[in-house]
Amino acid sequence: MDLRCEGCAGCCVDWRPIDAAAAAGSDRAGSRPPLDDTYGLVALTRDEVARFVDDGLGDALVPRLFEPAEGDDRVTVDGTDLAAVDGHPVFVVGLRKPPKPVAPIGTDEPRWLDACVFLDPTTLQCRIHGSDRYPRTCASYPGHNLALDAETECERVEAADGGERLLDGAVPDDTPPPAFGPQALGSTVFAHPDPDELDGVVARLRVGDAAADDRARFVGVAVGSRPASLSVDRERAAEAAARVREADSWVGRAVREWRERAGERGTPVTASVRDRDELVRELEDGEGAPGTPGWE
Ligand code: SF4
Ligand code: SF4
Repeated sequence: MDLRCEGCAGCCVDWRPIDAAAAAGSDRAGSRPPLDDTYGLVALTRDEVARFVDDGLGDALVPRLFEPAEGDDRVTVDGTDLAAVDGHPVFVVGLRKPPKPVAPIGTDEPRWLDACVFLDPTTLQCRIHGSDRYPRTCASYPGHNLALDAETECERVEAADGGERLLDGAVPDDTPPPAFGPQALGSTVFAHPDPDELDGVVARLRVGDAAADDRARFVGVAVGSRPASLSVDRERAAEAAARVREADSWVGRAVREWRERAGERGTPVTASVRDRDELVRELEDGEGAPGTPGWE
């Protein structure tokens, strides 16, 4: 793959408010409709989730549930039908996307758009790129799409006149298995063993307003899951959930600050670009976010 990512961040930002028609094909949800409306959620492996939790970054994580497809096993919680395996709601764990002041896909004017917690809003670079926390989903994107001859986010950005992005569509030899499918159970797709405990939680997840305790319940189960199995190590799950509830990283603090300051989705940022850059330095870099080098 040969990509031109400078000034893009199309796979890290919900840019539907800029061009709803071109961006309408987020492709990281598998074949079932997600319950929430987050665009391009980055599904993490169990080991990646565990690493974020161990590193005190559990407040960067959010679960995603799914509506059942026709013929799927399902369970009803809070009056909502959920895709399930043997009565256990299935879910993935991804990275949160708070509103941030960004100018993606070749635009000049910063707007309030939902963006990955690890995206530096000023350089549009990933703060964990190349580190051992860099998610497999991001490192291999858009390899699976190319293998399946499916449209990529890069091409959607091109269609929105965001510049030439996908320069060479060859599929890398080391493209990992897809995040969805039967082989993914317990590795990237998890099953919650106690749907009776999820009253109220499902409704909050649906509207993107999950509390720390809601997120912790799912993240704990993901960490305690065993590959190719429905069984969950309850002790490991409880320890991980406790760490998520206690997490107070720069990520969680930045999410709260950005949410307090954000205007309506898609609206221009009223501060000057210089003020915006200073705010990013204060709320993210000044709180411990890893820096990015810029494109020069
Ligand atoms: S982890 Fe990095 S590359 Fe992946 S979505 Fe977030 S900012 Fe983008
Ligand atoms: S959408 Fe494609 S070109 Fe744009 S940042 Fe993502 S991988 Fe790079």
